[in-house]
Amino acid sequence: MRRPIQSVTPTTGTAEVIGWVHEVRDLGGLAFFLLRDRTGIIQVTIVKKKASEAVLAAAKAVSRESVVRVTGTVKAIDKAPGGRELVPETFEILSMSESPMPLDVVEKVPADLDTRLDSRFLDARRPRVTAVFQVRSAAMHAINNYFENNGFINITTPKIVAAATEGGTELFPIAYFDREAFLNQSPQLYKQMMMAAGFEKVFEIGPIFRAEEHNTTKHLNEATSIDIEVSFADHHEVMRILEDLIVHTYRHVKDSCTDQLANLEIADFEVPRAPFPRLPYAEAIAIAQKKIEDPIKYGDDISSAAERAIGADMGGHYFIVDWPTEIRPYYAMPYENDPSICKAFDLMHPRMELSSGAARVHQHDLLVQQIKKKGLNPGSFEFYLRPFRYGMPPHAGWGLGAERLVMTMLNLSNVREAVLFPRDMHRLVP
Ligand code: ATP
Ligand code: MG
Repeated sequence: MRRPIQSVTPTTGTAEVIGWVHEVRDLGGLAFFLLRDRTGIIQVTIVKKKASEAVLAAAKAVSRESVVRVTGTVKAIDKAPGGRELVPETFEILSMSESPMPLDVVEKVPADLDTRLDSRFLDARRPRVTAVFQVRSAAMHAINNYFENNGFINITTPKIVAAATEGGTELFPIAYFDREAFLNQSPQLYKQMMMAAGFEKVFEIGPIFRAEEHNTTKHLNEATSIDIEVSFADHHEVMRILEDLIVHTYRHVKDSCTDQLANLEIADFEVPRAPFPRLPYAEAIAIAQKKIEDPIKYGDDISSAAERAIGADMGGHYFIVDWPTEIRPYYAMPYENDPSICKAFDLMHPRMELSSGAARVHQHDLLVQQIKKKGLNPGSFEFYLRPFRYGMPPHAGWGLGAERLVMTMLNLSNVREAVLFPRDMHRLVP
């Protein structure tokens, strides 16, 4: 196996490195190459009088962003990246890059997001972009671990479905042989059905598809949802799991991604502290009314402007709880003593919503009633309703957007920065 560039130290004496030509500087008698791989950068120093013909010829021919293999002697030198340089004995071009390139990897010329996404393979060579996806990988690792260590069963539910989870127009229709089908907008109904199967604690990390015609910095048409459902639990219990998971994930990233956070110039990566405040919906609306110009009243959805205003007031992660039943999905459990509000919650980052969840209605007849109240036809949900007639335990759960989690964790300005190949209204390629 190839040794990563980061592991090359002056004490190793000789080394072989393989990487991309990041930068070239020719100073006449001396030439400097910076070689890069996903772990870091090393300087290759060619003293022209001392180098072999073959090394000189390859160094002269090579273009930026070509892949090269260099072997030589490692020396300590203060001014070079990582405090070392490699003086080559061999310099071999493995794959030549065309020039000019569609995107400048060195970031001397800033590129807009669209240009970057068009050439994502080049964009992702940039250390700060690599770092985002290394952090995403670490976060997903921590999340998977958390669930495995806490007794959750990892499930996979269909993404091709016959009916909408919540009705509405958010679905992408697809041709399914001679029928119409849809790409699933959420694993909601399926994870609930597994409560009737007695699985007790399930999680799924998978794609969700939303055909909403958003053009915002926090919406994708294909996103990754981290979903759980837990039997014999109420909303309080799954909120505790959620805040615990957030803290665990941040801590793992802080401990395991020091170099990545440095690449992203995040000096003060803070692990949030649980418990997060629980802010009743009514109080959230009152805060928004004081702080934003647009009219907002009890019973309204919380707009993006309201989210930001309330978030500024709260200053950290928090939950909005006790929502009006009318503006939450039919499967959210109304409070017994006041059915006008329900046991639903949103987990908020000061910038935006990260997760929605609730204690669910587990009583068949109440569920049918609630489906009708939303103007939906219970007949279309028969496959979902049947399990509720044969012993459905009380249960609760939530769905957390992976991209928004990474976006807010790393303070990225656009959710598209947290996905390799984002899907939005205008982007289907690459
Ligand atoms: P919003 O109101 O912000 O559009 P939502 O309430 O429609 O979100 P939910 O259906 O509650 O979203 O989905 C649960 C979580 O999944 C959201 O809190 C979010 O983190 C993530 N999510 C949902 N839709 C999208 C999307 N279109 N793009 C990115 N993430 C999404
Ligand atoms: Mg929501």
